[in-house]
Amino acid sequence: MTQKTLFCFRQDLRLTDNPSFYAACQNGPVMAIYILDDITPQSFKMGGASRWWLHHSLSMLEKQLDYQLNFYQGRSQDIILGLLEEQKFDAIYWNRCYEPWRMAHDADTKAKILKRGVDCKSFNGSLLWEPMDVVKSDGTPYKVFTPFYRNGCLKARLPRHPLEKPAKVDLIKDNNNSTELKDLNLLDPIKWYSSMEPHWTIGEEGAQARLKTFLDSGLQNYKEGRDFPAKNHVSRLSPHLHFGEISPHQVWSAIQAITIEGTLSLTDIDHFRSELGWREFSYSLLYHFPDLPRQNFQKKFDAFSWQTNSELLRAWQRGKTGYPIVDAGMRELWQTGYMHNRVRMITGSFLVKNLLLHWHHGEDWFWDCLVDADLASNSASWQWIAGSGADAAPYFRIFNPVTQGEKFDPQGMYTRKFVPELAQLPDRYLFKPWEAPESILKTAGVVLGETYPKPIVDLKKSRMTALEAFSLLSRGAS
Ligand SMILES: Cc1cc2nc3c(=O)[nH]c(=O)nc-3n(C[C@H](O)[C@H](O)[C@H](O)COP(=O)(O)OP(=O)(O)OC[C@H]3O[C@@H](n4cnc5c(N)ncnc54)[C@H](O)[C@@H]3O)c2cc1C
Repeated sequence: MTQKTLFCFRQDLRLTDNPSFYAACQNGPVMAIYILDDITPQSFKMGGASRWWLHHSLSMLEKQLDYQLNFYQGRSQDIILGLLEEQKFDAIYWNRCYEPWRMAHDADTKAKILKRGVDCKSFNGSLLWEPMDVVKSDGTPYKVFTPFYRNGCLKARLPRHPLEKPAKVDLIKDNNNSTELKDLNLLDPIKWYSSMEPHWTIGEEGAQARLKTFLDSGLQNYKEGRDFPAKNHVSRLSPHLHFGEISPHQVWSAIQAITIEGTLSLTDIDHFRSELGWREFSYSLLYHFPDLPRQNFQKKFDAFSWQTNSELLRAWQRGKTGYPIVDAGMRELWQTGYMHNRVRMITGSFLVKNLLLHWHHGEDWFWDCLVDADLASNSASWQWIAGSGADAAPYFRIFNPVTQGEKFDPQGMYTRKFVPELAQLPDRYLFKPWEAPESILKTAGVVLGETYPKPIVDLKKSRMTALEAFSLLSRGAS
């Protein structure tokens, strides 16, 4: 028996390996919709860089669907229930999301849909192992990554094999709705995002191409190379994964195929897989501890006395701290919508442990600027950096931006690219220009405090202050 299904695209903007869309298409005609809901998420409304990405991702998807995708804007539940009133559907399908606000919305909406006698099904489209399936033998959630991944995930069932694109798609256009993609106003009239454009090929095809490039030329030597921001050893798949232009199952399965071929080192393959595992871990934390985005996971951090200093915060946000690797990272973020993981850790540590500013400030700025801004990974990672999270970096792990720069950007290619005003400085002084003799600064065209800022904090002093403050916290808790 055929059924007419309403299908909601959300963070699954692809046609291949989309379990919910696939199932909907097997049963008969489908009305595919996307709702831009800025009301239900409240303070977790999408940031600027995400909106830019979303616009282009939806534009690609719309083309793939022969312009049969229907757009709406408003409170998601009202729109879904309104469509049920207006038109007759036999079923509503979507892929599950795990943001706390979304889970509350979905549970309530599903109950209301079922009450109306309409079938409602949800599927797993975006995680290798769903959080409710990976718990310890006593039923409690894992709080430490290694046992979560090694015992919880890898010993559970294997991730499913990816699905093909549905062979037959019978799409319905909503003739009562005239909203077009452009009406969602996802693109800011001030085109601040134009510097991000050359860095990305947004959409399902772009995601697949990105995966192929990484497998062909980045995965080899991933374990070591992934720490060097000037090298091409990271996949840059994060925004594609966040918006669901590619599924982790597709990535996992491509990696499996390479493992079977036996052409690449298992060390690199396993390490890459474990990074996907960190994504799963972040989702598990968010699912089991829904306060993760705003509350310290370790309550003793509630007593920490963070500084308030808008000038320091602004210098950090703008990449004007006087610490070249920090500034390079913050400018990479601003210019491309992405920041290399090593540099996310350096800039994060600098904000929290040298400037002593609350991790919420970093979380909020990343949320607005990252094209891969993801509630689970962003909040779990900021808590990791602050030391307040589950399985977090210990408080005494303070990244030194000078030695980190020297170690992970030894030729300064990354730093010179994003901080061009220091490009002519010799490597020896690149990460500590304040130590360069006047004659060298002059030859390099650098005037500290004019062409490039002087350091906004003293590294040693701020490190000691942070260590003292953090250790007081530990003593207080014991
Ligand atoms: C302060 C801070 C904030 C972060 N915010 C986000 C965020 O909002 N969104 C986000 O996707 N990642 C975030 N990360 C995690 C990580 O930096 C990015 O996932 C990674 O840099 C993405 O680049 P890639 O795709 O080239 O990674 P690759 O090294 O190629 O890794 C492959 C995939 O594994 C996942 N992954 C890798 N490292 C991590 C990690 N530490 N935590 C969770 N997943 C991981 C990502 O999905 C990534 O695409 C944050 C890290 C820090 C330190």
